[in-house]
Amino acid sequence: MTTDINSVCTYCGVGCDITAVVHNNKITKIYAQSDGYVSRGKLCIKGKYGFDFVDSPNRIRTPRIKKSFIEKNFDALPTELKARSKRLIPLDDIWYESNYEFATSLVAWKLDVLKQQYGRYSFCATGGARTSCESGWMLQKFTRETMESPHIDNCARVCHSPSLKGLKTTIGEGAATNPYDDIFKSEFLLVIGSNTTDAHPIVANRMIEASRDKIVDIAVIDVREIHLGKFAKYNAVIPYEANLLVLNMMAYVILSENLYNTRFINTRCKGFEEYKNSILNDEFANPKFFEKLKGYEDLAQLIPVIAREYATKRSMIFWGLGISEHIDGSKAVMAIANLALMTGNIGQTGAGLMPLRGQNNVQGTCDVGCLPYYAPDYQTPQEIGLMTPDLINAMLDGEIKSMYIMGEDIAHIHPNQNKINKALDNLEFIVTQELFMNEIANKSDIVFGVKSAYEKTGVYVNAMRRLHLSQPLVECDLPDDWEVLRDIENKLKGDFLYESSEQVWDAVRADVSRYKGASYMKLSKHRSKGMQWPIDKDDTPILHLDDFRTDDGLGNLTYNSYILRGQIKEILDNCESLKNHFYLTSGRVLVHYNNSAQTKESPRLNEKHPNDILLVSIDDQDKFTSSKVVLKTQYGQSAPLEIKFSKSIKTGTMFTSFHHAKSKINYIFGDEADELTKTARFKSLKVEVSSDEC
Ligand code: SF4
Repeated sequence: MTTDINSVCTYCGVGCDITAVVHNNKITKIYAQSDGYVSRGKLCIKGKYGFDFVDSPNRIRTPRIKKSFIEKNFDALPTELKARSKRLIPLDDIWYESNYEFATSLVAWKLDVLKQQYGRYSFCATGGARTSCESGWMLQKFTRETMESPHIDNCARVCHSPSLKGLKTTIGEGAATNPYDDIFKSEFLLVIGSNTTDAHPIVANRMIEASRDKIVDIAVIDVREIHLGKFAKYNAVIPYEANLLVLNMMAYVILSENLYNTRFINTRCKGFEEYKNSILNDEFANPKFFEKLKGYEDLAQLIPVIAREYATKRSMIFWGLGISEHIDGSKAVMAIANLALMTGNIGQTGAGLMPLRGQNNVQGTCDVGCLPYYAPDYQTPQEIGLMTPDLINAMLDGEIKSMYIMGEDIAHIHPNQNKINKALDNLEFIVTQELFMNEIANKSDIVFGVKSAYEKTGVYVNAMRRLHLSQPLVECDLPDDWEVLRDIENKLKGDFLYESSEQVWDAVRADVSRYKGASYMKLSKHRSKGMQWPIDKDDTPILHLDDFRTDDGLGNLTYNSYILRGQIKEILDNCESLKNHFYLTSGRVLVHYNNSAQTKESPRLNEKHPNDILLVSIDDQDKFTSSKVVLKTQYGQSAPLEIKFSKSIKTGTMFTSFHHAKSKINYIFGDEADELTKTARFKSLKVEVSSDEC
């Protein structure tokens, strides 16, 4: 029997509506309805072809227990578990296969033992951005209430935490302000630190269409030439770590040329005079600074042109990890918000702030409280927990003893992998819920295979605050993420009495005011369009129409100065960079998603990018004698990477993706991170290039 089932794409934060053609419980095709609200009838290659992972023979179908875990714990096991552990069936040299009931009993026993022995702060958990809101909410509840530990985090730590921090500080709400379709109601789009065509392709489609139809002009600001630049009126290729510098310069132009919106500032903002004085007296804020920066002199003229157009038109700003993954990521987001506040480009149709969130449910995971400093609904938790980089240090110090991981490959996507591996090796117990045996699953003591997003019911929140109720495309007898947590909790306490996703969701709604009116019934009625939070009777497509979500309702102009460093300092100091030293930025390519767990299992995607490639400027070709190189830093080294010379890369700089664990890209990044949220500085790294080990 063949049926068409509507749901939502499992990959990026764009959150496209999809329709799956399902034949005999197998997905045979995925497409978008021509009137799809997010997709507008088109999906990117991941949405279209990235479904083979569902039937992959590599899926984890039964719980796995490491043999070494049983050996180490055998004597301490209670009699019943001891007897049952003797009947475990070996899967290979490393793992036993287990039935679900025994695996959950074993986890409950070990977590309890460790809590008794080391105390409640010895437990931590991370994950949730790849699964539903129901499961994310359950993970933080399990951590805070069952394990009584404040240490809960999610992978926003390595992506958009600075966007949340920067927007919360300035406008009181860490989320996109408008729907994507406002691109067609805007006049000017500033895209900074976002390779939109690769990372958020269906949003990029709108930008390109609006530009071609002469509805909007686009300015692209990035450290390299990106595809979207072909459709832009202005392309500014800026030095590494110059986001805050450039954004403050835009503010300087707007202030010094009186292009700001006095009425909006007087009625909706505070702190303007202090902010204005600070910028106008900042030695780095005048765009003329670029006149003395060799190779970037054109920016002295170009930045003011972009600033004028932004200030005088109905404008939106889009940004991605190119903004957040820096030591001043949160401050750069504040600088972005300042531009909108000064010019009144917020709180109206076609004008706003659009952080392009990465994972399919990273917005939802933050909303439901998978953060150490926010309980559900961004409430202050009873106790503030540690952020992941601090958890890693606490593991090394022996303070954290156990970790629960739900769909986040901390042994691949986080920086400083030599350190992380050492920290994970120091733990007494790791439990992971995953689809495939990735790096962290392989390091775990017990692994649960769980339903994928295409096999379950649940709510996902996309990058424009849109809630989508997904429904299963195929049947699957694996447990949902939240069910594993419930079943373990039931062996510890017995408070989680949920029988269905809907029951969990109703409990989530009682906790998260933004979702209050979004019952399953209402969400299923609006399945194709979705609803944007806050949702009561109706939804809220545009935020901040009358006031901001700060305590006093006012926008808070928040000045931060740029600190001279890195590549810019080296150019100013006339440092002759050593021939084999380069500045590297890392990012995604279109066909893969993050640690490529699912895309690698979809041959039509993986064959297009089976390895991570190092893009090098064509102008630096003579510096290379071999087709492969190893990148080195004080923290570690990559595997040999194949080089591709490119005209889009500026001399002295490089780009690589990090999708394949075997490339070991994240072994070369260190602890340098956003100073307010500890989000790693993945977008700027000085590397030494070596061909000796290739
Ligand atoms: S843009 Fe994102 S959500 Fe849309 S189809 Fe592609 S991966 Fe899926």
